[in-house]
Amino acid sequence: MKYLLLIAFVVVIWWVFKIRAVRPTPPRTKASPAPEKMVVCAHCGVHLPLSDSIAEHGVHFCSEAHRQAGKAAGKP
Ligand SMILES: [Zn+2]
Repeated sequence: MKYLLLIAFVVVIWWVFKIRAVRPTPPRTKASPAPEKMVVCAHCGVHLPLSDSIAEHGVHFCSEAHRQAGKAAGKP
């Protein structure tokens, strides 16, 4: 009876290790998003993402106020 319990215990341990070995590891497809292009505000020089900037005639601004200020400064 004592050996039967020991064999059962060993079988259970072997079975647990087998289950763990068979379990497939999840594929690591944690692709980071593509880096966004950064632009510089033509008025204050702050760096900001292209999607957050306001572009006018190929020049980027960080806000509407700086676009207005840049436009006013650009006029002769
Ligand atoms: Zn600015």
